Amino acid sequence: EKQPRKKQFAVIGLGRFGGSVCKELHAQGHEVLAIDIDEDKVREYAEFSTHAVSIDTTDEKALKNAGIRNFDHVVVAIGDHIQASILTTLSLKELGIEKVWVKAQNTYHQKVLDKLEADLVVHPEYDMGKRIAHKMTSDKVIDFIELEDDYSIVELYATKKMHGKSLIDLNIRSEYGITILAFKREKKMNISPNAQEELHEGDLLIVMGHTKDLERFENEAL
Ligand code: ADP
Repeated sequence: EKQPRKKQFAVIGLGRFGGSVCKELHAQGHEVLAIDIDEDKVREYAEFSTHAVSIDTTDEKALKNAGIRNFDHVVVAIGDHIQASILTTLSLKELGIEKVWVKAQNTYHQKVLDKLEADLVVHPEYDMGKRIAHKMTSDKVIDFIELEDDYSIVELYATKKMHGKSLIDLNIRSEYGITILAFKREKKMNISPNAQEELHEGDLLIVMGHTKDLERFENEAL
Protein backbone atom coordinates (compact mmCIF):
# COMPACT_ATOMS: atom_id res chain seq x y z
CA GLU A 1 0.00 0.00 0.00
CA LYS A 2 1.25 3.43 -0.92
CA GLN A 3 2.09 5.63 2.04
CA PRO A 4 1.01 9.26 1.73
CA ARG A 5 4.05 11.50 1.32
CA LYS A 6 5.11 13.18 4.53
CA LYS A 7 4.47 16.90 4.64
CA GLN A 8 7.54 19.09 4.46
CA PHE A 9 7.69 22.22 6.59
CA ALA A 10 10.06 25.16 6.54
CA VAL A 11 10.38 27.99 9.03
CA ILE A 12 12.05 31.25 8.01
CA GLY A 13 13.26 33.47 10.86
CA LEU A 14 14.24 31.80 14.12
CA GLY A 15 13.33 34.49 16.63
CA ARG A 16 11.00 33.80 19.55
CA PHE A 17 7.98 33.09 17.34
CA GLY A 18 9.55 31.18 14.44
CA GLY A 19 11.87 29.40 16.85
CA SER A 20 8.97 28.06 18.86
CA VAL A 21 7.10 26.96 15.71
CA CYS A 22 10.22 25.14 14.55
CA LYS A 23 10.89 23.41 17.87
CA GLU A 24 7.28 22.29 18.17
CA LEU A 25 7.15 20.83 14.65
CA HIS A 26 10.41 19.02 15.31
CA ALA A 27 9.23 17.74 18.69
CA GLN A 28 6.10 16.37 16.98
CA GLY A 29 8.33 14.35 14.67
CA HIS A 30 7.82 16.38 11.48
CA GLU A 31 10.45 17.20 8.95
CA VAL A 32 11.35 20.85 9.25
CA LEU A 33 13.87 23.02 7.48
CA ALA A 34 15.02 25.92 9.68
CA ILE A 35 16.21 29.07 7.91
CA ASP A 36 17.78 32.26 9.21
CA ILE A 37 20.16 34.87 7.88
CA ASP A 38 22.03 34.73 11.20
CA GLU A 39 24.51 31.86 11.36
CA ASP A 40 24.44 31.70 15.15
CA LYS A 41 20.69 31.07 15.01
CA VAL A 42 21.23 28.35 12.43
CA ARG A 43 23.80 26.63 14.64
CA GLU A 44 21.47 26.92 17.63
CA TYR A 45 18.58 25.31 15.71
CA ALA A 46 20.59 22.46 14.17
CA GLU A 47 19.35 20.18 16.97
CA PHE A 48 15.74 21.39 16.75
CA SER A 49 15.27 20.82 13.02
CA THR A 50 15.87 18.24 10.32
CA HIS A 51 18.14 20.63 8.52
CA ALA A 52 19.17 24.23 9.18
CA VAL A 53 20.57 26.70 6.65
CA SER A 54 21.76 30.25 6.69
CA ILE A 55 20.43 32.30 3.77
CA ASP A 56 18.98 35.72 3.12
CA THR A 57 15.47 34.79 2.02
CA THR A 58 14.94 38.09 0.18
CA ASP A 59 17.34 36.57 -2.38
CA GLU A 60 15.06 34.45 -4.54
CA LYS A 61 17.98 32.49 -5.98
CA ALA A 62 19.16 31.52 -2.52
CA LEU A 63 15.64 30.38 -1.67
CA LYS A 64 15.54 28.22 -4.80
CA ASN A 65 18.98 26.76 -4.09
CA ALA A 66 17.82 25.80 -0.61
CA GLY A 67 15.19 23.67 -2.34
CA ILE A 68 12.29 25.66 -0.96
CA ARG A 69 10.07 24.52 -3.84
CA ASN A 70 9.95 21.04 -2.31
CA PHE A 71 8.17 22.39 0.76
CA ASP A 72 4.41 22.31 1.14
CA HIS A 73 4.10 24.67 4.03
CA VAL A 74 6.34 27.59 4.89
CA VAL A 75 6.09 29.91 7.89
CA VAL A 76 7.64 33.36 7.55
CA ALA A 77 8.53 34.70 10.99
CA ILE A 78 10.86 37.54 10.13
CA GLY A 79 9.89 39.83 12.97
CA ASP A 80 10.84 43.48 12.75
CA HIS A 81 12.29 43.25 9.27
CA ILE A 82 9.03 44.08 7.54
CA GLN A 83 10.58 44.72 4.16
CA ALA A 84 12.39 41.35 4.23
CA SER A 85 9.19 39.63 5.34
CA ILE A 86 7.24 41.14 2.44
CA LEU A 87 9.89 40.30 -0.17
CA THR A 88 10.23 36.75 1.15
CA THR A 89 6.46 36.22 1.07
CA LEU A 90 6.29 37.54 -2.48
CA SER A 91 9.02 35.13 -3.63
CA LEU A 92 7.42 32.16 -1.90
CA LYS A 93 4.09 32.88 -3.57
CA GLU A 94 5.78 33.32 -6.93
CA LEU A 95 7.60 30.03 -6.50
CA GLY A 96 4.23 28.40 -6.02
CA ILE A 97 4.53 27.24 -2.41
CA GLU A 98 1.18 25.76 -1.50
CA LYS A 99 0.80 27.28 1.94
CA VAL A 100 2.57 30.42 3.09
CA TRP A 101 1.81 31.56 6.62
CA VAL A 102 3.27 34.84 7.79
CA LYS A 103 3.63 36.61 11.09
CA ALA A 104 2.63 40.27 10.83
CA GLN A 105 4.27 42.92 12.93
CA ASN A 106 1.54 45.56 12.66
CA THR A 107 -1.69 46.29 10.80
CA TYR A 108 0.08 47.93 7.88
CA HIS A 109 2.23 44.85 7.44
CA GLN A 110 -0.88 42.69 7.72
CA LYS A 111 -2.63 44.61 4.92
CA VAL A 112 0.29 44.17 2.55
CA LEU A 113 0.51 40.45 3.34
CA ASP A 114 -3.21 40.06 2.64
CA LYS A 115 -2.71 41.74 -0.74
CA LEU A 116 0.14 39.34 -1.52
CA GLU A 117 -2.31 36.53 -0.82
CA ALA A 118 -0.44 35.03 2.07
CA ASP A 119 -2.53 32.00 3.04
CA LEU A 120 -2.67 32.96 6.67
CA VAL A 121 -1.50 36.10 8.42
CA VAL A 122 -1.02 35.84 12.15
CA HIS A 123 -0.53 38.72 14.51
CA PRO A 124 0.25 37.01 17.82
CA GLU A 125 0.75 40.04 20.07
CA TYR A 126 -2.49 41.60 18.86
CA ASP A 127 -4.48 38.34 19.09
CA MET A 128 -3.12 37.53 22.52
CA GLY A 129 -3.95 41.05 23.72
CA LYS A 130 -7.55 40.55 22.62
CA ARG A 131 -7.74 37.19 24.37
CA ILE A 132 -6.38 38.64 27.59
CA ALA A 133 -8.89 41.51 27.44
CA HIS A 134 -11.76 39.02 27.01
CA LYS A 135 -10.56 37.00 29.95
CA MET A 136 -10.20 40.15 32.06
CA THR A 137 -13.70 41.41 31.36
CA SER A 138 -15.60 38.17 31.65
CA ASP A 139 -15.22 35.86 34.59
CA LYS A 140 -17.55 33.40 32.90
CA VAL A 141 -15.60 32.78 29.73
CA ILE A 142 -12.97 30.10 30.19
CA ASP A 143 -11.64 30.27 26.68
CA PHE A 144 -12.72 31.35 23.24
CA ILE A 145 -11.84 31.02 19.58
CA GLU A 146 -12.70 33.77 17.14
CA LEU A 147 -14.05 32.47 13.84
CA GLU A 148 -14.88 34.50 10.73
CA ASP A 149 -17.18 37.53 10.74
CA ASP A 150 -17.80 37.96 14.45
CA TYR A 151 -18.64 34.35 15.16
CA SER A 152 -16.88 32.57 18.00
CA ILE A 153 -16.73 29.39 20.01
CA VAL A 154 -16.60 29.92 23.77
CA GLU A 155 -16.20 27.69 26.79
CA LEU A 156 -18.37 28.51 29.79
CA TYR A 157 -19.45 26.75 32.96
CA ALA A 158 -23.13 25.93 33.45
CA THR A 159 -24.48 27.76 36.47
CA LYS A 160 -26.86 26.79 39.26
CA LYS A 161 -29.62 28.54 37.30
CA MET A 162 -29.26 25.92 34.55
CA HIS A 163 -28.96 22.87 36.78
CA GLY A 164 -31.36 20.04 35.90
CA LYS A 165 -32.68 21.84 32.84
CA SER A 166 -32.56 20.31 29.40
CA LEU A 167 -31.49 22.13 26.28
CA ILE A 168 -35.18 22.24 25.32
CA ASP A 169 -36.12 23.80 28.67
CA LEU A 170 -33.44 26.40 28.22
CA ASN A 171 -34.60 27.12 24.68
CA ILE A 172 -31.10 28.23 23.85
CA ARG A 173 -31.25 27.97 20.10
CA SER A 174 -34.41 29.97 19.53
CA GLU A 175 -33.87 32.36 22.44
CA TYR A 176 -30.27 33.23 21.64
CA GLY A 177 -29.57 31.74 18.21
CA ILE A 178 -26.53 29.90 19.54
CA THR A 179 -25.64 26.22 19.58
CA ILE A 180 -24.20 24.04 22.31
CA LEU A 181 -21.70 21.94 20.39
CA ALA A 182 -20.66 19.79 23.32
CA PHE A 183 -20.35 19.72 27.07
CA LYS A 184 -17.87 18.16 29.39
CA ARG A 185 -18.80 16.62 32.73
CA GLU A 186 -16.18 15.02 34.93
CA LYS A 187 -13.65 14.59 32.14
CA LYS A 188 -16.23 13.00 29.86
CA MET A 189 -16.96 14.88 26.66
CA ASN A 190 -20.48 14.67 25.27
CA ILE A 191 -20.39 15.68 21.63
CA SER A 192 -23.52 17.14 20.01
CA PRO A 193 -25.79 16.48 23.00
CA ASN A 194 -29.43 15.81 22.24
CA ALA A 195 -32.08 18.31 23.24
CA GLN A 196 -33.45 16.21 26.14
CA GLU A 197 -30.08 16.12 27.85
CA GLU A 198 -30.12 17.82 31.26
CA LEU A 199 -27.28 20.08 32.27
CA HIS A 200 -25.57 20.08 35.63
CA GLU A 201 -24.05 23.01 37.42
CA GLY A 202 -20.34 23.03 36.59
CA ASP A 203 -20.64 21.35 33.19
CA LEU A 204 -18.20 22.91 30.79
CA LEU A 205 -20.24 24.11 27.82
CA ILE A 206 -18.76 24.61 24.38
CA VAL A 207 -20.99 27.06 22.61
CA MET A 208 -20.89 28.56 19.14
CA GLY A 209 -22.65 31.62 17.83
CA HIS A 210 -22.46 35.27 16.91
CA THR A 211 -20.36 37.18 19.42
CA LYS A 212 -23.29 39.50 20.25
CA ASP A 213 -25.61 36.55 20.93
CA LEU A 214 -22.98 34.83 23.04
CA GLU A 215 -22.58 37.97 25.14
CA ARG A 216 -26.34 38.16 25.64
CA PHE A 217 -26.38 34.50 26.66
CA GLU A 218 -23.55 35.11 29.14
CA ASN A 219 -25.33 38.06 30.70
CA GLU A 220 -28.87 36.71 30.80
CA ALA A 221 -28.78 32.93 30.94
CA LEU A 222 -25.84 32.17 33.19
P1 ADP B 1 10.51 37.57 17.17
O1 ADP B 1 9.77 38.85 17.33
O2 ADP B 1 9.61 36.41 16.81
O3 ADP B 1 11.44 37.22 18.30
P2 ADP B 1 12.83 38.45 15.68
O4 ADP B 1 12.65 39.75 14.95
O5 ADP B 1 13.61 38.44 16.92
O6 ADP B 1 11.40 37.78 15.86
O7 ADP B 1 13.48 37.37 14.71
C1 ADP B 1 13.43 37.40 13.35
C2 ADP B 1 14.49 36.45 12.79
O8 ADP B 1 14.47 36.60 11.37
C3 ADP B 1 15.89 36.78 13.27
O9 ADP B 1 16.51 35.62 13.79
C4 ADP B 1 16.57 37.29 11.99
O10 ADP B 1 17.95 36.92 11.92
C5 ADP B 1 15.78 36.62 10.88
N1 ADP B 1 15.85 37.35 9.63
C6 ADP B 1 15.78 38.68 9.44
N2 ADP B 1 15.91 39.00 8.16
C7 ADP B 1 16.06 37.85 7.48
C8 ADP B 1 16.25 37.51 6.11
N3 ADP B 1 16.30 38.45 5.16
N4 ADP B 1 16.41 36.21 5.77
C9 ADP B 1 16.36 35.24 6.73
N5 ADP B 1 16.18 35.49 8.03
C10 ADP B 1 16.04 36.77 8.41
